[in-house]
Amino acid sequence: MGIALRYVWAGLSLLAAACAGAPPPPAGIGELSEARVSVAACRSASVSLHFDFDGAAPSACSITGERAFELLVTPEHAPPINPSPWYAFRYEAKGDAPVSVTLRYLGAKHRYDPKWVGEGESRDLSVYLREDGAVAVMALPPGNGIVSAQEVIAPDDTAADLARWSAVSGAAVFTLGRSHDGGAIEAIRLGRADAPRLVVLLGRQHPPEVTGALAMRAFVDALVEARAVPGDTQILIVPMLNPDGTARGHWRANRGAVDLNRDWGDFTQPETRSVKAWLDALPQGVRPVLMVDFHSTRSNLFYVQGEEEMDAGQRSFLAAWLGGQEQALPGFPFAIEPRNANPGSGTAKNWFHAAFAIPSYTYEVADTADRTAIRTAARALAGRLFPALNAAQRAGTRDAAD
Ligand SMILES: [Zn+2]
Repeated sequence: MGIALRYVWAGLSLLAAACAGAPPPPAGIGELSEARVSVAACRSASVSLHFDFDGAAPSACSITGERAFELLVTPEHAPPINPSPWYAFRYEAKGDAPVSVTLRYLGAKHRYDPKWVGEGESRDLSVYLREDGAVAVMALPPGNGIVSAQEVIAPDDTAADLARWSAVSGAAVFTLGRSHDGGAIEAIRLGRADAPRLVVLLGRQHPPEVTGALAMRAFVDALVEARAVPGDTQILIVPMLNPDGTARGHWRANRGAVDLNRDWGDFTQPETRSVKAWLDALPQGVRPVLMVDFHSTRSNLFYVQGEEEMDAGQRSFLAAWLGGQEQALPGFPFAIEPRNANPGSGTAKNWFHAAFAIPSYTYEVADTADRTAIRTAARALAGRLFPALNAAQRAGTRDAAD
């Protein structure tokens, strides 16, 4: 995991609120001392918390005891916002006495159990959860570590993925455009630039949706390693559409305070526009045939087009790619949820389907899905991709001939 020092957080004012009506906290949480407000870090004599790496969330931090801290976990702008309450910090603790960190959620409930990474090891931490879900307390392992809502996959990590895919495939990484913060929206294309069938793979519109990113990484790894892209097919891979929101620990939005997956159609944001501009510049004869957008939610599922929205080719693709696989992938049962587009919904799924009349899916991975199963399933589905595209093409040809 690459930890790049980013910026010094200038803290919000916060006084620690008493935990009214809560059951007693676990032993070791300590008496509340008068809260002190953090600036760049939250520091007592023996313990410090820091928010200085890409993916860290600049939570308001208060020191509630020599070895007790409280973080106010807040969204990047006012609700309504999807409740994906991201948090991430690193800590340095001297001595072996317990250190407690309380997460207090503003406008959300605890959703992600803490992922801890120390020197050479990692594991999930358990939490004491207040009954209403709005407060969670964890004990930190001794020494130094990083704690985050899900595994930290920051823009630098995705850049490393792209470099690996480039090294294996020989394809060049290129920049589609720039984010609000000036970050590169990077992409790679597998296959020839004039290959007529274009598959588009998108990732990380929503920063906390790391399990979707894990699936996309394994999916692309499998495509690259197989060296099996047919000569008439090219694949555009954009694994980090929201680098600003990811680096800043957002719950949902980009730096323009916009949910990027509601911007397809209006294209008000530089990140979505970068993809649109690339599509607009495609050579004649190149046409998208499939779009898959990787996300995370509570369970494994694929949002696909509704029955009445699909033509024969699209139905054939769905049947050949996902049909019968719902219970067939070890540790990764999934559902297929057909949903017709709400006009103007602004999702990538609906825009690609409307613009190109193609299968256009959201690949949703459960927050808590087994990490090995995510990868195994993604690799299996990558292996089924080209046969399914060919089946769709045959069905589409038959349909056109009818
Ligand atoms: Zn999402």
